[in-house]
Amino acid sequence: MGTSLDAGSIIDAVPKQLLVAGAWVDAEASATFPVEDPATGDVLCEVADASPTDGRRALDAAVAAAPGWAGHAPRERGEILRRAYQLLIDRREDLAVLMTLEMGKPLAESRTEITYAAEFFRWFAEEAVRIDGGYAVAPNGQGRFLVMRQPVGPCLLITPWNFPMAMGTRKIGPAVAAGCTMVVKPAGQTPLSMLALAAVMAEAGLPDGVLNLLTTSSSGAVIEPLIRDGRARKLSFTGSTQVGRVLLEQCADQVLRTSMELGGNAPFIVFDDADLDAAVEGALLAKMRNIGEACTAANRFYVQAGVVDAFANALAERMGALKIGPGVDDGVEVGPLIDASARDKVAGLVDDAVKRGATVLTGGAPLDGPGHFYPPTVLHGVPGEARMRDEEIFGPVAPVSSFDTEDEVVDVANDTEYGLVAYLFTRDLSRAIRVAERLEVGMVGLNQGIVSNPAAPFGGVKHSGLGREGGRYGIDEFLETKYVALELR
Ligand code: NAP
Repeated sequence: MGTSLDAGSIIDAVPKQLLVAGAWVDAEASATFPVEDPATGDVLCEVADASPTDGRRALDAAVAAAPGWAGHAPRERGEILRRAYQLLIDRREDLAVLMTLEMGKPLAESRTEITYAAEFFRWFAEEAVRIDGGYAVAPNGQGRFLVMRQPVGPCLLITPWNFPMAMGTRKIGPAVAAGCTMVVKPAGQTPLSMLALAAVMAEAGLPDGVLNLLTTSSSGAVIEPLIRDGRARKLSFTGSTQVGRVLLEQCADQVLRTSMELGGNAPFIVFDDADLDAAVEGALLAKMRNIGEACTAANRFYVQAGVVDAFANALAERMGALKIGPGVDDGVEVGPLIDASARDKVAGLVDDAVKRGATVLTGGAPLDGPGHFYPPTVLHGVPGEARMRDEEIFGPVAPVSSFDTEDEVVDVANDTEYGLVAYLFTRDLSRAIRVAERLEVGMVGLNQGIVSNPAAPFGGVKHSGLGREGGRYGIDEFLETKYVALELR
């Protein structure tokens, strides 16, 4: 484990307090909570445990800084993001170790996430200077319309544990570019990456109070009053559909603008004319990225009857050969799941599918501790009534079933409350377009197992969310449109 000697000093270097109005401060009564390493169960460190009072102070700071920040030159906002991009890239190695320690993913994947996270800053650094407006002649010829786009104001940004930094930069980048101030709340299980990111933002020159950071072990009690306070103008949330629904209800009172990046149940569809090697390669990516703990993870594999056995066996061979272990160890490809309940959930879903008739081709049972390890698992012949057909597995399990016709697979793929992403493998372009048009999702991976790209619009339909992050659409979520009517006389 080439990096273990540095782990202590990397953790020591991260601030552990709350960031409020540019100052790192203790939580009320100096409360703290522990952050654990999911590979060992060891406590890595303690971080500040914000109370509702601390939450209100953070919002006060974001509100106070809002007018000044909105008045900053777009070029200046962009250059802060560009500097932060470079700092993240320069420090990728240490940040990757930090992320692996708190989240569990293999180091190589943490490095990839740091780059992905940084790229949102580079992208939105470029978008900051491209916020346009409009000018039009009214239909009567006398009137003129002037369209302005202005920052929405103070925002609440809430992120999950599975991509501890990228889910932050995907919101912070456009918020900074648009001229919004913010209160950021990372997941309690992975606060360290966001704390390190906040320190980088300050170093890059972000003015005090623009980004305020709360770590807390009582998210609901801290966030609900901030939503109901009335001074925040926007909530951007990435997390489960279940929590997203609760927050949407809370937001209704203040008619708060929302962006919701929620859960998924991605179908992975392979037609019999597909390049099977490419499909297996794509399946590995779509399933095993982030140990299967991704909203975009392929959750249901539907393979046309003529090639289903060949696909399932090839995937089982590849998944069964992956190296499992603590993410910081050299060559590890599959780290631990985030906690014991995540591992137990995966085990329960696999047991349920097997009871209903699925065959285990590889894996199929949790590994003994320490750590919350579940091996890569391929199930063949998973019936439609298995629970994992409806629930996010959030683990390294690939359930395969067969289908016969295009209509049948489109129906079954759409038969879910979710609509984030679908993967589609076929060499027939007409079929690809036809099926992509019929799938009820926000994104389609066509002959590829990954869709995430900072320059593309990421988001879902149905219960997978509202709004888009990334691409030229991402900044719209943080801008209001105002129109000025005037009449020439
Ligand atoms: P989660 O339990 O919904 O938590 C997400 C965030 O919300 C965390 O910061 C959490 O903090 C906080 N939270 C929980 N309850 C809250 C409440 N009542 N009020 C305010 N905040 C609250 O989701 P997760 O388990 O961290 O993440 C996994 C889920 O995220 C999966 O469903 C996945 O599909 C989804 N996800 C979606 C996308 C996307 O772009 N669509 C991307 C990544 C993940 P604490 O955990 O500290 O309580």
